[in-house]
Amino acid sequence: MLDQAVNSEYEIKSRRYDLAVVGAGPVGSLCALIHARKGARVALFEARSNGARTVGGEWLHPPAARLLQQVGINFETPADASVTKGFIYFPEDGSEPIELPYPNGSQGLACDHGLLVKRLRDTAINHPNVDLIPERVRSIDDDRVGFERSGVQESIAADLIVGADGPRSVVRRALGLATKRTSCSRMLGFELNGNGQGIDLPKEGYGSVVLGGPGPMFIYRLNSNSVRIHVDVPLRFPSEQTGDLLMNNCMPLLPEELQHEFTNLVQEKRFHVTSNGLNPRMSYGDPQRILLGDAAGHYHPSTAVGMTLGFGDAYALSEYNDPSRFAAQRFKEIRAPEMLALAFYEILVDDRVETVALRQSVYRMWRERGWQAERSLKLLSCEDTSEFGLGLVGGLAMLRATSPTKQHSSGSGLRSLKQSGTARYRLIMRIGWFIRGVRQLRKVRATSQASAQKFLDAMARALPATMQSRESRSDEPLDQAA
Ligand SMILES: Cc1cc2nc3c(=O)[nH]c(=O)nc-3n(C[C@H](O)[C@H](O)[C@H](O)COP(=O)(O)OP(=O)(O)OC[C@H]3O[C@@H](n4cnc5c(N)ncnc54)[C@H](O)[C@@H]3O)c2cc1C
Repeated sequence: MLDQAVNSEYEIKSRRYDLAVVGAGPVGSLCALIHARKGARVALFEARSNGARTVGGEWLHPPAARLLQQVGINFETPADASVTKGFIYFPEDGSEPIELPYPNGSQGLACDHGLLVKRLRDTAINHPNVDLIPERVRSIDDDRVGFERSGVQESIAADLIVGADGPRSVVRRALGLATKRTSCSRMLGFELNGNGQGIDLPKEGYGSVVLGGPGPMFIYRLNSNSVRIHVDVPLRFPSEQTGDLLMNNCMPLLPEELQHEFTNLVQEKRFHVTSNGLNPRMSYGDPQRILLGDAAGHYHPSTAVGMTLGFGDAYALSEYNDPSRFAAQRFKEIRAPEMLALAFYEILVDDRVETVALRQSVYRMWRERGWQAERSLKLLSCEDTSEFGLGLVGGLAMLRATSPTKQHSSGSGLRSLKQSGTARYRLIMRIGWFIRGVRQLRKVRATSQASAQKFLDAMARALPATMQSRESRSDEPLDQAA
């Protein structure tokens, strides 16, 4: 279906649409589909019409998996996808792994990114109300979307233009918003299949987050044949060290059954490298041009919320006909997951004494398996998007991290007292900067670069490990093969 549509002889059936969606990635395709089913005439533009980006969102939290089901996209066979039940964290200190099931037995989904996008895109363009225009959008002028076909400039008009064109969004640029993002790390993506024989994981159904390497590693089953490993490498490690880091610091932490194949893939350089960056949601656009998904904002994938938030954006747009009500509602729903995504990567990778104290406090909370653990999983999976919930769980974790307890008693007497005092002071300072940054973020309006700068300055003090490369804010390519 996709290949037929890519033919340059394709027909543009109309010069005016209700909706022009720029980008047929996961979010744009879902948006086009939902609106078409509600009767809108949709033009769906896609620059890479023969495929999707090589590495991207594959782990869908339960709310995103439910939304897919709701629109009739099912991955019924284990050869296509796997059902997910939660996470297992392997702390960096080698202590007992921590099992964190999704609350109330809810289930998510993991699926190869290319397959997920193909399924969504095919379903959208099979709808009679959707016309795929397999071209890169070059310009947005008022209600016109400009593109080039066989060297000739063309355009169509639409009542509403939706930018679902990812981090380098042309619609975002047309709105005068920054497309530069803060790079935080590189992500190396491996696919293991037991050399075609299939592969077992120690705990099926759970995504394993392994700490103790350069950055967190995330391991999950993609389908009955394959397992994905994402290795995060913070930017403080130069890329020339990648091979050594993978072999000496990552491979030994993997489950035994994965080590041999992982080693081969590293030696043969068969992995993908992606740049992780962040650009928080500061605006959803204006009444004529709306941003969704990564075009509106994106974060380090440590909380795997990109698709869940993007699908939520697409769904909400179809529910609220009024763009400003849509934006107001979305800002209510995304702020808590956004704050968590910003802070969580820092908690996982930073080794300053105060962050270690906070990390240990989070482990203790999870190990106790009480309501705090359950609520934190609801927050991580976007089942709970309330700022109150985040404030409560986060506040308690911080309080425990700042009270002098056993975790500071590795040294003895005066030294441990001093250490815990320093940790407490530094943690309080950084929380202060974080709150200041979040308050600044709320003030940012569309093109206000000054407020955006203040937000970034505050966050750089709150999240030094995440934001260390702020100077290298960049437009570098998002993905490449090793
Ligand atoms: C390494 C990595 C791992 C991740 N893991 C997860 C995860 O496990 N779970 C999760 O939820 N999220 C994850 N994410 C985030 C997730 O990939 C994104 O949030 C998601 O892909 C956003 O979808 P989107 O449709 O908004 O943008 P994109 O996926 O970027 O799609 C944008 C589409 O627009 C097209 N396009 C761009 N410009 C134009 C133009 N000018 N004209 C026409 N078309 C254009 C592109 O070709 C593309 O098809 C991960 C991200 C990375 C980098």
